[in-house]
Amino acid sequence: MDAKSEKSNLIAGETGDWEIVIGMEVHAQVTSNAKLFSGASTEFGGEPNSHVSLVDAAMPGMLPVINETCVSQAVKTGLGLKAEINLYSVFDRKNYFYPDLPQGYQISQYKNPIVGEGEVIVDMLSGERVIVGIERLHLEQDAGKSLHDQHPQNSYVDLNRSGVALMEIVSKPDLRSSDQAKAYVSKLRTILRYLGTCDGNMDQGSLRADVNVSVRRPGDEFGTRCEIKNVNSIRFIGQAIEYEARRQIEIIEDGGTIDQETRLFDAKTGETRSMRSKEEAHDYRYFPDPDLLPLELTQDFVDEIAKSLPELPDEKRARFIADYGLTPYDADVLVAERESVDYFEDVAKGRDAKQAANWVINELFGRLNKEGLTINDSPISSEQLGGIVDLIKDGTISGKIAKEVFDIVWTDGGSPAEIVEKRGMKQVTDTSAIEKAVDEVLAANPDKVEQAKAKPAMAGWFVGQVMKATGGKASPQAVNALIKSKLGIE
Ligand code: ADP
Ligand code: MG
Repeated sequence: MDAKSEKSNLIAGETGDWEIVIGMEVHAQVTSNAKLFSGASTEFGGEPNSHVSLVDAAMPGMLPVINETCVSQAVKTGLGLKAEINLYSVFDRKNYFYPDLPQGYQISQYKNPIVGEGEVIVDMLSGERVIVGIERLHLEQDAGKSLHDQHPQNSYVDLNRSGVALMEIVSKPDLRSSDQAKAYVSKLRTILRYLGTCDGNMDQGSLRADVNVSVRRPGDEFGTRCEIKNVNSIRFIGQAIEYEARRQIEIIEDGGTIDQETRLFDAKTGETRSMRSKEEAHDYRYFPDPDLLPLELTQDFVDEIAKSLPELPDEKRARFIADYGLTPYDADVLVAERESVDYFEDVAKGRDAKQAANWVINELFGRLNKEGLTINDSPISSEQLGGIVDLIKDGTISGKIAKEVFDIVWTDGGSPAEIVEKRGMKQVTDTSAIEKAVDEVLAANPDKVEQAKAKPAMAGWFVGQVMKATGGKASPQAVNALIKSKLGIE
């Protein structure tokens, strides 16, 4: 980070500049068919209590059995975060009472998590690069859900989520602005999606963040933090941080101090409000769950998973810049979503990658954005777009006609080569036809011909006229050459 971007992250208060310090605890639902300690389904949106085993309902005498898939997914995620994998980890009971937690405790990992320190590289649009330390990743159970709006007197409970595996990914307090925090969560989500370990679906609750915020004078020690619980969209994360930082600055500048507390973000007002202070914080009485042995992995198990890792966004980005000559910005846009990058790589295969990137980013993404569609709903397949790029490359159509072909394929579908053939959109390279058009334009504009002979830059005007006269189908190179030779300029 250079001094300038550091400076631009500061917030101006009444009494001088302040720096925000942010650390995040992200809860990511593990992609797995079954729950962490039972065989019940993890499918989203079932009838209440239709995915609940006796273990999830905490019937007396039921024993948890670890789901190996969830363990592999946690290890895979750890490797993707360039983190240390702990071959020895322990499941603890975190004890508290809540109606949607029938066990009376959550099985989690406390002192010995499955994954230790790692990092996430965050590239900002400004070009600034932030390396965010990962403190740990541990596995834990999700709780159920209380339903308070179904009956005038009673509350209900839905245990479908109870026991679903979560990865809690804890960052170090390395983030310094709401933009950095948003970019961090986006990047983390991208990595999880590439890995296939969490679908990252924030509106279904598969990814949510506890956001820790404090403020300090630049260069001072960290200030007291507040933790904003369960923020479930990237936009809300940004809003919550902005509000919370300003609230804290105001209190300190008025001579007050910050109480360490847990707060909630209200999406309707854009404000955070107190939920409980540190004094009221739970003592969870953690202890190792006597129903579960410590989790011991072999190095072979970890090595096998390492072999199955896909190429991750940072590696792809570096390769696109080094091998394809793409700009860092274009590379970032392409790697942000796994589906987008797959699409681009299909188009780029065996073609000029820069031209492919241009068409994918400017034409395709531009149009998808405009129509509010995602790459998954693209009416143009990578094969069709590749076909258009091929037609430009071999001189069959100009870039301008290619955009028309793009529009036709977008609305009507079909093969670009056939469309060009059938509709007579081929670029005219036949010089006699072009010559005829050139002669007509020259004959119709004798005064401009005289001007152009004195001022060769005028030739461009004639090129434009001929292109118009030929419906954009003449090869611009051929037109240019003919006009210059007829005007006797070079
Ligand atoms: P606890 O064990 O009390 O939950 P941790 O030390 O594990 O506390 O920190 C929890 C989260 O809070 C981490 O993401 C960490 O980066 C963040 N954090 C810690 N101190 C601060 C601070 N002063 N300001 C902002 N975030 C912080
Ligand atoms: Mg914590």
